[in-house]
Amino acid sequence: MEIAVISGKGGTGKTTVAALLGVYAAPVVMVDADVDAANLALLLQPRIVTEEPFYGGRVARIDAAQCNLCGSCEDVCRFGAVAGGVVNPLLCEGCGACYHVCPVGAIVLEPSPDGCLYGAEGPYGPVVHAELSVGRGNSGKLVTAVRQRAREMAGRGGIAWTIIDGPPGTGCPVIAAVSRVDLALVVTEPTRAAFHDLERVVDVVNHFGVQVAVCINRYDLHPEFRAAILDYCRAAGLPVVGELPTVLEASRALVAEKPLCALMQTKLALMCAQMWRKIKGLVVEATACEPV
Ligand code: SF4
Ligand code: SF4
Repeated sequence: MEIAVISGKGGTGKTTVAALLGVYAAPVVMVDADVDAANLALLLQPRIVTEEPFYGGRVARIDAAQCNLCGSCEDVCRFGAVAGGVVNPLLCEGCGACYHVCPVGAIVLEPSPDGCLYGAEGPYGPVVHAELSVGRGNSGKLVTAVRQRAREMAGRGGIAWTIIDGPPGTGCPVIAAVSRVDLALVVTEPTRAAFHDLERVVDVVNHFGVQVAVCINRYDLHPEFRAAILDYCRAAGLPVVGELPTVLEASRALVAEKPLCALMQTKLALMCAQMWRKIKGLVVEATACEPV
């Protein structure tokens, strides 16, 4: 069973909630799919056991020995990636146009090293995370690669639950993080921006037919927005599985980059335990209702 924890807006406490749910779901595969700014490992402090390069696209390279400096590749490149017979790999989008126009076959398209994929051992089970190289795109592909690796680990270890700490926003990486999961938990907070993004991200997830539940983090921030979110969820038929209070000692522990165990004595952890029971109930119920 896979649960994706997403938020639309960044900074709602999504990663903390995902990590705390992992405590109660253990044994669990924990996945950091926020590949542009991975930080789940700060909380879990796992021990890295495997590291492998991720090749997400292609990058052009010019063989200087064959190049006659005709300039055709520079003229055809719409990304300004070629100058003086040399490709700037940071600008190259791997479109292949230069490869096709080169009269002497001096250009090769090679796999582009876009990031790194890590397999690790965490306190509650395996942890998979990744890092996208600076300036590279393909975060959606890297999220898919991370999820694939997590599935393999879950299969090998006979682990029933996987929790994915998803990326913020509503773009391609989020779609890659939520596609075909058993439930998407949207962590929001009672602010105008977060409420707006909640609506947007729910639209995206609904489009893929994935079951959605909502967690209102720091529900005590703003009573009116909290009421508006609850009204919206009621009207949209979205279960609110948890309302978490602002817990100052949790914020202090996070700022000090203390490991997750530092949060375990907080009210937040207790409420995440209750939330996990509700999430588990929703997923198990939905699975039982699936046609055979
Ligand atoms: S592959 Fe495309 S983007 Fe890269 S250098 Fe060639 S034309 Fe430019
Ligand atoms: S098109 Fe080929 S020969 Fe011409 S400058 Fe580019 S790499 Fe060199």
